[in-house]
Amino acid sequence: MDEHAPKTGIKVIIVGAGFGGLTAAIECHRKGHDVLILESFSEIRPLGDIISFGPNAGRIITSWDNGSIADKISPLCLHNTIFHFKRFDGTYITSQPVHPPSKTAPAYSGHRGEIHEIFFNYARDTLGIEIRLGCRVLEYVEEPGRAGVVVNGETIWGDVVIGSDGVKSKARELVLGFVDKPKSSGYAIFRAWADATPLLHDPLTKHMVENGDYHVMWIGPDVHYIVAVLKGGKDVSWVCTHKDEADIEESWSFPGKIEDVLKVLDGYDPVGRRVVELTPECIDWKLVYRDPLPTWVSKHARTCLLGDSAHPFLPTSMQGASQAMEDGVVLATCLQLAAAGKSDIPTAVRTYEKIRYGRVRQAQLLGEETRDKWHKADFEKVLENPDAIKLKRDDWLFGFDCEQDAIERYDSVVKELLGMAGMAMGKAQVTEVSVAA
Ligand SMILES: Cc1cc2nc3c(=O)[nH]c(=O)nc-3n(C[C@H](O)[C@H](O)[C@H](O)COP(=O)(O)OP(=O)(O)OC[C@H]3O[C@@H](n4cnc5c(N)ncnc54)[C@H](O)[C@@H]3O)c2cc1C
Repeated sequence: MDEHAPKTGIKVIIVGAGFGGLTAAIECHRKGHDVLILESFSEIRPLGDIISFGPNAGRIITSWDNGSIADKISPLCLHNTIFHFKRFDGTYITSQPVHPPSKTAPAYSGHRGEIHEIFFNYARDTLGIEIRLGCRVLEYVEEPGRAGVVVNGETIWGDVVIGSDGVKSKARELVLGFVDKPKSSGYAIFRAWADATPLLHDPLTKHMVENGDYHVMWIGPDVHYIVAVLKGGKDVSWVCTHKDEADIEESWSFPGKIEDVLKVLDGYDPVGRRVVELTPECIDWKLVYRDPLPTWVSKHARTCLLGDSAHPFLPTSMQGASQAMEDGVVLATCLQLAAAGKSDIPTAVRTYEKIRYGRVRQAQLLGEETRDKWHKADFEKVLENPDAIKLKRDDWLFGFDCEQDAIERYDSVVKELLGMAGMAMGKAQVTEVSVAA
């Protein structure tokens, strides 16, 4: 069982039980805050397909329940040792070792729904966190000393409200003071998860499944197409990212057509095309993006955004879920430090934003850089210098302990914030942004 910190008396309302909201809930609970999660879906279903967690997120997962959560997730995930790069026509470019196995900071790629269920059950069943399903939050409210949400006609108040409600966030309206609709990134992804048995029976694809897990990518002009074979050759998942200027107002995820994927992959390696031909169905996922928000924190700093509601990621960053998780850890840590007398709650919430903002932006930009180097690859140069298209394995991103970092930087960031607030308002008017004596 987890050890828990003493109760802080801080009541946190979390809207959305995605990876961001669940991590925030788990970490708030572990750090002694009272937690309530409100989630619009009425039952937990294994939605989605492949999702990745970097070692920076693996470090968080292994810290839960003496490693038992990590032990449950690991067998569901990809266990290849090498990631292969090919030109669209099948020409071999290079191979890159994946993150090495680690007991303290492993990387995971697996089915979003399956991993999500493990997070969800840990929060609800093991930790006993209250999760109310079928609760769509329709309105966010805030007063100087508290924040609340309106759900099913009832207003529920807390000390802090976390809007971890995804790319179509409603919480963002209160935080920004206006409706800020997500926009198309100019790209969409055809994506699928399927039984890999048909690949084993086809001579073109047999080699991809007969020896267990396998991971390969084909790169073409403004397209990258990745196939992962998981669970020892039992399941296959693929994602094909391509240009798409479709309007995302109405829907951003709906059934795709296999023939449309094959059109995008016209002229591609027959092996890669055959994987698509052998897949019964796929999803057409419009990639939503937005420019960095001016702030993630409301006027009275009692409501804040977290995860995709604050900062959607391109899949080429492979950090969307990981950064949402880091947000949850850092916010819970800041609130714990506030409860320990280091600041008041609004300052803790603003400090969370300040600690997170720059790092998240850097990780987002890395995703754009990776997309551009793949989608705009000059193959003559790439074949001369294949290392140039490999994934970056920067220590600032993957070797990072977000909790330790938050603890170490808390006091200096609070001081910086107070200085900024003092300059903006004049010292005498600084009321909410004040360090506890
Ligand atoms: C159904 C689904 C499938 C996905 N599949 C994949 C995938 O296959 N691969 C991948 O890389 N990424 C996938 N993602 C995105 C990925 O999970 C996120 O980008 C990342 O994990 C960050 O998570 P988040 O918690 O910030 O947001 P999300 O995962 O989007 O979670 C937001 C949560 O808030 C809930 N919510 C929204 N509005 C309200 C409201 N008004 N009241 C109450 N609850 C609300 C949503 O139901 C959702 O559970 C998926 C997301 C969802 C919701």
